[in-house]
Amino acid sequence: MSDRYKVKTPVCYLDMDGVTTNFHHSACKVHGRDPYAIMKTWPRGEYGFEKVFGITTEELWAKCRGYEFWRNMPILPGALWLYESLSTKYQVIFTSMATGDGYCAQAKVDWLQEYFGKQVQYAILHCSKGYMNPKGALMIDDYEKNIEAFTVIGGASILYPQVWNTQHAIADSSDWKEVTGMVIQAAMKALPGLSGQ
Ligand SMILES: [Mg+2]
Repeated sequence: MSDRYKVKTPVCYLDMDGVTTNFHHSACKVHGRDPYAIMKTWPRGEYGFEKVFGITTEELWAKCRGYEFWRNMPILPGALWLYESLSTKYQVIFTSMATGDGYCAQAKVDWLQEYFGKQVQYAILHCSKGYMNPKGALMIDDYEKNIEAFTVIGGASILYPQVWNTQHAIADSSDWKEVTGMVIQAAMKALPGLSGQ
C-alpha cells in the first residue's frame, strides 16, 4: 500500500490565517487601512476586525472575499521554518476555515502549493476545528475559540502568540523569529514522537 494512505501520529493541525498566512495584512488593505500602522494600535487581545474597524461582520466579509483576496495573502515570516520543524516530528495537516464565498478553499490550496510545494500532502478546509480528531494530535492556532473547541474534546494545543489574542504580550515583546522558535519548542515537547512510519 502506498505510504500516503498510512496514518502517522502525532498529527499537527497547523492553522493558516494568522499563523502561516498574513490574513490581517490583506484584510487591512482591502478595507483601506495601513496594515503596519493598525497593528501598532490594535487593541491587545481583541480578535474581531469589526470592533477595530468599526464595521459590521457583513461589511468585513463583503471585501474579504473572492479568489484573488485569498490567493494573494502574504506568507507570514517563520511559516516555512515552522512547517519544516514540525514535520520532523509530526504529520502536519494544514487546517483552515473556508469561507462561503466559493473561492476560498481553491485559493487556499493554490496558495499552499505556491509556498509549500509538493511537500504539502494534507490540508483540511473545514467549518469548525471542533470536528478535528484530537487523538494523538496537536493544534496550533491563533484563535482562542478554535483552541477551546479542540481542547474540550481532548486535543493538545498551542495558541500562536499574536497581538489579537491572550498571548499578545509575547507577540509585542518578541520578533517573529523568537515567536516561531517558542512555538516550535513547545510543539516538540507537546506529544510523544512520530510513529507508524
Ligand atoms: Mg487563524
